[in-house]
Formats: sequence, structure tokens, C-alpha cells
Amino acid sequence: MSNEVVVSIRNLTKRFGKTVVFEDVSLDVHRSEVVAIVGPSGAGKSTLIRCVNRLHPFDEGSLQVLNHQLNKGSQFPSKQVLNDIRTRVGMVFQTFNLFPHLSVLENVILAPIEVKKVPRKQAIQQAMELLDMVGLSEHANKYPKRMSGGQQQRVAIARALAMEPEIMLFDEPTSMLDPELVGEVLDAIQRLAKDGMTLMLVTHEMQFAKEVADTVVIMADHRIIEKGPSREVLENPRTGRAQAFLKRVL
Ligand code: ADP
Ligand code: MG
Repeated sequence: MSNEVVVSIRNLTKRFGKTVVFEDVSLDVHRSEVVAIVGPSGAGKSTLIRCVNRLHPFDEGSLQVLNHQLNKGSQFPSKQVLNDIRTRVGMVFQTFNLFPHLSVLENVILAPIEVKKVPRKQAIQQAMELLDMVGLSEHANKYPKRMSGGQQQRVAIARALAMEPEIMLFDEPTSMLDPELVGEVLDAIQRLAKDGMTLMLVTHEMQFAKEVADTVVIMADHRIIEKGPSREVLENPRTGRAQAFLKRVL
């Protein structure tokens, strides 16, 4: 982990209408840091990471992502800024969201060719390297529906990486998978972490968080109730609320 802060969340508040999703959330993420965000359902975890790549606006506080200072309110940043953020901050969702009418390879090369104007030949070469990294180079010409959920999610990871992001956001990437397929996706994420990728990961996999994350953030009751080094937070939570949550999930 370096000293460079790549995501700076300061006193962030997010509402949907009158409903407060979270309040006064502050968090710094450093380059190459792995931050796991855990907490009960409805705590605002997804909404928080979606604010980082500006899928959602926020209401109070400030948010810096890479070299961009995002303003509060519904006023969207310029298209140029938005594109820059979406290129440099990759996201993988709970559902795989692959394009069903495109092969695995075509899924992976689409954005580099369309958005980054990478020459097709170069995009294919890079895609094959990424598919190899997630153990799927043999499946490049298959269609998503012919693959298991774990394989599809690994394609989704390769597709996000094809944009060469500096930060990767994961929103419960394994929660839709059969238990026996969870490991292969977590392995791919762990490899990214080892390679020095900056990761913000919402997960219910507490053992994985303990082993792979530098920092664990627990969200509950519309705020961050605890954050710190992963082992410290997961093994010796300070607040009763965090203890109660962890007792249920560990
Ligand atoms: P988590 O990911 O921790 O389960 P979410 O960020 O998905 O929590 O949701 C937090 C709260 O915000 C929930 O109460 C949810 O109902 C509400 N919420 C999420 N998205 C929307 C939306 N688009 N419109 C209105 N309310 C929403
Ligand atoms: Mg969620």
C-alpha cells in the first residue's frame, strides 16, 4: 500500500428522497490498498461504492476520486470527467451482466475498442492474456450462457480489467454463485490484490476479508460503525453493534 490517497470520501451523506442511505461517511483509500466493506443488508454498501464511480450522486460532503473532485448534488460532472472515471475505475457487480449475444472474447474487447480506440489486434492479444489470468483462455469463443456462474464472473473481471483500471470496485461478486464456485472467483480477486490493484470490495466472505483485505469497514445503521486493519476489526471489534453483526456472520 502506498501513501497516495486515490479515493477520499469526506463526511459523505446520501439520501434517496427523504430516506437517508448513509450519513457522515469518511474513508481514505490508498493506492494498492484492499478495502473490504461488510455489514448487514440495507446498510448502504452498494450505494457507497456506486458513488465512487458516480453511478449515484451524493448529497453532502466531498468525494475525490483519483484527480477528480466530485461535486455534491445532482449536477453531473462533464462527460469527459465521467468517462475518465469510468475508464480508470472498473466495476464488477453481483450479477455478471455479460452481453449474451457476444462471445467471451468479444465481451472483453468491446470497451477497449469502442471507448479507448485500441486497435482490434492489440485488444485481442490483451484480452487473451487477461482470460489466461482468470483461467479461461480455452473458453474465449464460448457464449456466456454456456458457462457456469463462476466462469461468467471471471469473464466479467477480465472485461473490467481490459480497460486497465487503476481501481476496481466489486459489489458482492460471489453472492450469486453456488458455494463450490465461490473460490475460483475469490482466487482471481486475490491475484489482483497481490498484483497491487487498489480494491474496494463489498463482501460477505469474512475469511477472505480477513486474509486479503488491508482494511475492513463495517457499515450499519446508516454509517461506518468500525474501520481499521482487517484482523483487528474482525477479531476484536470495539463496538457492541459490530460485535453483534460479526457474531451472526462469522
Ligand atoms: P446494501 O448494499 O448495504 O445492502 P444498498 O446500498 O443497496 O445497501 O441500499 C441501502 C438503502 O438504500 C436500502 O434501504 C435501499 O432500499 C435504499 N436504496 C438503494 N437504492 C435505491 C434507489 N435507487 N432508490 C431508493 N432507495 C434505494
Ligand atoms: Mg448491496
